[in-house]
Amino acid sequence: MEKYGGKNIQYELNGLKCDKCDWVDESISLDDLENWVDKPCPECGANVLTSEQLAHLNMILEVADIVNSLDIPKDPNDEEAEMDLLIDSSANIKLNIKNIDGEE
Ligand SMILES: [Zn+2]
Repeated sequence: MEKYGGKNIQYELNGLKCDKCDWVDESISLDDLENWVDKPCPECGANVLTSEQLAHLNMILEVADIVNSLDIPKDPNDEEAEMDLLIDSSANIKLNIKNIDGEE
C-alpha cells in the first residue's frame, strides 16, 4: 500500500467502498481516486464517489500536508501519527488516526 504524507503525518487510502452493496476495492490509490468520481459501482451501479466527497477528502489531506510542513519539535517520547482513510458512498470518510506503532 502506497503511503503519502511527510514527517509528521503519513496517510494511506484503505480503499473505496460501496455501502449499497458489499463492493470494496482496496487496490485503489489516492492518485486513482479522481478517476472514480461519479463512476458506478461495478456490482450494483450506485455512485461510489461524488466530487463533493473527493473535495472533502482533499481538504483533509491539505490539513495533513500543512501539519507536515510545520517544524514540530520532537522529543524522543513523541510518536508519529498515521492516518488511514476509507471512503464509502454514503459520503462518509472514515479517518483512523493511530500512532505509528499501531496503537489507536
Ligand atoms: Zn455497490
